[in-house]
Amino acid sequence: MEIRIATSLTSLPNGREPVKSRQPRGPRRQRGSGMAVLFDCDGTLIETTASSGDPDAITPLPAAAAVLAGLRALGYRTGILKNQPEIGRGLLAWHEVEAANRRIEALLGSFDVWRICPHTRDEGCPCRIPKPGMILSAAAKLGLPPRNIIVIGTTGRDMVAAAAAGSRGILIPGASTLRADIAVAKEVAQDLHQALELIVGSRGQERSPRRVSRPRPTSRAAGA
Ligand SMILES: [Zn+2]
Repeated sequence: MEIRIATSLTSLPNGREPVKSRQPRGPRRQRGSGMAVLFDCDGTLIETTASSGDPDAITPLPAAAAVLAGLRALGYRTGILKNQPEIGRGLLAWHEVEAANRRIEALLGSFDVWRICPHTRDEGCPCRIPKPGMILSAAAKLGLPPRNIIVIGTTGRDMVAAAAAGSRGILIPGASTLRADIAVAKEVAQDLHQALELIVGSRGQERSPRRVSRPRPTSRAAGA
């Protein structure tokens, strides 16, 4: 298991470490070869638990393990992006976050890259989503161009970050998703299975807007 945590962008590996590859050496190129899918995991892979530091509170969404297994079997590398401002506010310690992340990997398998922003909004860091810093850093760590990265999230901020990085974004609307987020998202999937269909169907090369469905938006009016 590998947990990579960023305390700031300047401390990130930025490609200095050897690129780990799970690609087969044989002549047959897998569909997901040279591609990676990064999840803003709250609400996409695990139930939103208010970023709890309690590992026992982590509950995977029903489709998460199967969809991740499908992606990995096709050669896609996988990663996690997390805004974790509770660290910056002193509400969670790093070791508590790491314990929660280990629990996620125990439940959902090992991820190729982790990027965590510990900062609060007021710190103005380059990594906090909707800034693209964590996506760019993850791409560098994986040795992939940002256009080969697919970001899956539940908020418009995730989609803004993906676009700013030059990556592809797929929105899966959830309880915290705003109507406006769905309106501006280039690609919307109703759930993880549909997101997988979008990814596998296009192999990430098509940039034209595609919509699988029009999920029910929530009625919250305020910006997230
Ligand atoms: Zn940050």
